[in-house]
Parts: sequence; C-alpha cells; structure tokens
Amino acid sequence: MELQLIDYFRQRIPQYPCVRLGIGDDAAIIDLDIPQCVVTTDILMDGVDFRLSEVTPEAIGRKALAVNLSDLAAMAASPKACVVGLVLPEKGGVEIAKRLYDGLLPLARDFQIAVAGGDTNSWEGPLVISVTAIGLPSPGGGLCRAGAKPGDRIIVTGDFGGSLLGKHLTFTPRVWEAIYLYRSYEIHAGIDVSDGLALDLWRLTVESRCGAVIQAEKVPISEASHRMVAQVKSRMKPLDHALHDGEDFELILAVPPAEAARMLRDQPLSVPLTDIGEFVPDRGLWLEKGKKRTPLEPKGYQHKFSL
Ligand SMILES: [Mg+2]
Repeated sequence: MELQLIDYFRQRIPQYPCVRLGIGDDAAIIDLDIPQCVVTTDILMDGVDFRLSEVTPEAIGRKALAVNLSDLAAMAASPKACVVGLVLPEKGGVEIAKRLYDGLLPLARDFQIAVAGGDTNSWEGPLVISVTAIGLPSPGGGLCRAGAKPGDRIIVTGDFGGSLLGKHLTFTPRVWEAIYLYRSYEIHAGIDVSDGLALDLWRLTVESRCGAVIQAEKVPISEASHRMVAQVKSRMKPLDHALHDGEDFELILAVPPAEAARMLRDQPLSVPLTDIGEFVPDRGLWLEKGKKRTPLEPKGYQHKFSL
C-alpha cells in the first residue's frame, strides 16, 4: 500500500524550488539559505481532535496543515515546507489518505508551503495525522510569547467563540497578517489562540512574567458564540464562549500603547483588530466589567495527562 501511495503523492504534490530532494528518498533536502528556521508540529487524532464519522477527511487534511500555519503565524514566520505523517486505519486507509491530501494541498498552495515528504503507516487503530512545518523567521527574529510589558495593550485579530459550529475547520491562519503587522509596527509578544482566548492569553503572560486585564465589553464576540448559547443548553453566556472556547486561531499581540493606537487607527488588515485590555505588572488574569475587576480563570481546552 505504501509504495502505491508514494507514487500517487509524487504525482499529485507540486514541486517547489526550495525542495532539492522531495518525496521518495529517505529524507528530504530543503534549501533555506538562512542560519535559523522555525519548526512546529501538531498531531490530530480521530476521537480526540475530530471524529472521522462526523467530519470529511478533506476537512481534517486542511486542518492538520492549518493549525501548523497558525503556529507559524504566532511567530510571524513565513511558511516554507512541511512533512506529513499519517497513521491510517487499515480499512479504507488509501482512500482516506487521498482525501486528506485533497484538503491539505489547496491550503498548501494558498500559503506557498511545499510538501517535502512524510511517512505513512497503517494499523487497526483510528486515523492520526501529524504535520511538521518549517518556516523562515521574520527579520529581527519574530514573535515569541515572552516580551509583553506592563502597560502594553492586548490587541487581537478577528472574533472569538463558538468555533465548533464551523470555524475550527474553515479558519484562515493569520500568517500574512502576522508578518505584515510585525514588519509594520512595534510588537512585543504574540501567540495564536488554539485553546481559548483566556487560556492562551494566560500562557503568554506566564512567559512574559506579567499579568493581563481583559475589558469584558471590548471582547469581540463572534456570532457563533450567540448561536452556541441558543443551541447548547448550558449556563454559558456568549462572552464565556468567546473567552473559553478553543480553536479560534486568531492572534493575541502585546503592543505598546502608542503603536496600538496607530494600529487601530490604520486597521490595515481585512480582519478587524481590537484592543481588549492591557498587560499589568501583577501576575494573573482579570476580567473588568465597568469598574469591577474579578480574577478570570484561564479555562480552555487542555489535553488530559495522567502518570
Ligand atoms: Mg500556538
């Protein structure tokens, strides 16, 4: 099965000049012409990150690459090449693999990222897909989670919450947005929102050794958050979905106040930029409603581990 698939991939996957040796050898050789590169990897598993019974393989293939592109965006890195690891279920595996690539390749083309190789196995278990992406850092090193300073504004792209209603499969990774913003404005730190606005903002504050205050009325709540409240019978409000649902794949940026004001005046992207609060010296996370500040739990999606 593997040889047949490799031939199929070789024919289907477009060639890029940076890939000196691609699919078919023991490893790929990629021309980068730089002393440093950015590397990120993500694993998606049937039953944990998606259900193959509910989602098309095309959507899963697209998402497996898109989440990696979002991580490159979080670093303001430009996509260069990726490798794809597949663990296919024995039954129907070849067909699933082809359809995964049907979803992955158009996104790869949109973001000019070469598929340089990978590995394909099969087993009696469920589908697992792992993509590893390589990018070039922005001049000046790129963004990290560390670097936010007290007084910086919290700037976010897009809106938040309810991504389960569709956005988690169709989102556009903010790659070009991040590169443009990093090139055009002073930005101290950044992260992409994979597991929830509150949780990922908290992760950024941990690395930056500071805290953050979100102003409740400023959070851009998606229309899907409102639909979630209507559809799912829980006590969550639209704001709770915006703060704690995962997989928005928007950006959180720490921007000095004057630069943040300029950014908001310019609104240089096709997606809105919003100032939702500020970084503060005290460690922790707070939600401000009117004049009242209450601690905000950094709840979001987290994988479970046990020893
Ligand atoms: Mg990330």
